[in-house]
Amino acid sequence: MTIKIGIKIDPTRCEGFGNCVMTAPDVFALGDDGRARLIVSEVGVLRLEEVRKAAYNCPVSAIKFKEE
Ligand code: SF4
Repeated sequence: MTIKIGIKIDPTRCEGFGNCVMTAPDVFALGDDGRARLIVSEVGVLRLEEVRKAAYNCPVSAIKFKEE
């Protein structure tokens, strides 16, 4: 079984600081409204640390992730 890490952004919390984009640019992007968007909604477990750092670096705790 392959473990995947599911990622979500809470659009009501995101204020567009862009830290997530700098930390994981192939997972997060800023949309036209200045808020973060997911490029992919899940990644392989080998990229867990990258997603964890992006979530940690978000000043408003808008990024959630979990094993699926
Ligand atoms: S770091 Fe957080 S607040 Fe900033 S763009 Fe990413 S999700 Fe939004």
